[in-house]
Amino acid sequence: MNTTSILEVKKLLSTPKKVVIVPHKNPDGDAMGSTLGLCHFLKKLGHTAIVIAPNDYPSFLKWIPGTEDVLIHEMNTKTSEAHILAADLIFTLDFNALHRCGAMGTPIANAKAIKIMIDHHQQPDAYAQYVYSDVSMCSTSQMVYHFIEKMEGLDLIDVATGEALYTGIMTDTASFRFPLTTSTTHKVIAHLIDIGIEKSKIHNAVYDTNSFGRLKLLGCAMNNLRFLENKHTAYISLTNKELDAHGFKKGDTEGLVNYGLSLKGAKFAAIFIEHQEESIIKISFRSKGDFDVNKFARNHFSGGGHNNASGGRSDLNLEDTITKFTNLLTEYESELNS
Ligand code: 5GP
Ligand code: MN
Repeated sequence: MNTTSILEVKKLLSTPKKVVIVPHKNPDGDAMGSTLGLCHFLKKLGHTAIVIAPNDYPSFLKWIPGTEDVLIHEMNTKTSEAHILAADLIFTLDFNALHRCGAMGTPIANAKAIKIMIDHHQQPDAYAQYVYSDVSMCSTSQMVYHFIEKMEGLDLIDVATGEALYTGIMTDTASFRFPLTTSTTHKVIAHLIDIGIEKSKIHNAVYDTNSFGRLKLLGCAMNNLRFLENKHTAYISLTNKELDAHGFKKGDTEGLVNYGLSLKGAKFAAIFIEHQEESIIKISFRSKGDFDVNKFARNHFSGGGHNNASGGRSDLNLEDTITKFTNLLTEYESELNS
C-alpha cells in the first residue's frame, strides 16, 4: 500500500463507517485471527464492524474473542447479504480472488462498498480499490498489525485484538518455524505479549483440544501414508468412509499434510481428501526449499497459495487423482532431486 493509499484509507476511517470483514471459505487460524483482530480494532476506532465468514470454521478457533458475533453466510444468508449491501467498506482478508469466498463472491462483487484487500498470497486479482498485498509476510494477521501501525493505532491494540492476531501468526507459521517468520514477526509477538495476551492459553486452545476421533483419524492417515523416497515425496489419502468412521468434524484434517513433510528426506507432501457432498477431492500441498507448490497447484489442480503451502482440487475420483499426481511427479523428478 503506497503512502497515498494509506492516507486515503485513513481518511475513510476518520468518520464512523459500516464495515464488513470477510475471511476465505473454510477459514483457518489466520483467516479468523486476522478478521477478528481487525474487527476489534475498527470497533475501537468507533466503526460498526462485523466479521462474516462464508461457511463454518473449526471449534478449536471458536474461543477467539469476538467469535460469538461472527455471522456465517452459509447459515444466515439473508442477514449476511443485508450487511454486505449496507456496508460502506468491505475488507477481504487472507485471500485475493473472490471465488475463494464461495457464494459470498457475487454479493461482494456487486456491493457498492469500497473494498480493501489485505493478503499475503501470490498474484492478487483486481477487485479491490485498495490493495495491501505482501507475499513476503508470514500471515495476514501480521499484516493487520502493520495495517494498524500504518493507521497510527498501535495504542488501541488490546488483549482481544492481540489474542486474535497471535492466533493467526502462530497457526500460519506453524508456531513460528516456517521460513517467512522474521525478526519483525517476533517483534510483533513481543509487543502482543507486553500488552498481556496469554499465549499458553492460545496454544492450548488450538493444539491441545483434540477429540478422540481426531487422534484416531490421525492414526488412519498415518496408516495411509506413502513415501516415494526417490522422488522425495510423501502423500496421504483419506476416503469419505474413513472420515465418517472417525466422526469427522470441520478442522479434523488440518495440519495432517505436515506429517508427510516431517519424514527425513521429504521435500514435497500432499494430502488427498474425498469430499463426497461436493464430488471433489480437496488437496493440500506443502514443500520444503525451492519446490514451488503454488505453481504446481495452479498448473495441475485448479488451486494456488504460497511457494511452500498451497491447495487445490480434482474432479477425478480419489484413485485417479492419486495416479495423476504420481504420474506428474516424473515430470518434476529432477527438480525434486536437486
Ligand atoms: P490448505 O492446504 O491449508 O487448505 O491451504 C494452504 C494454502 O493454500 C492457504 O494459504 C490457502 O489459502 C491456499 N489454498 C488452498 N486451497 C486453495 C485453492 O483451491 N485455490 C487457491 N488459489 N488457494 C488455495
Ligand atoms: Mn494466511
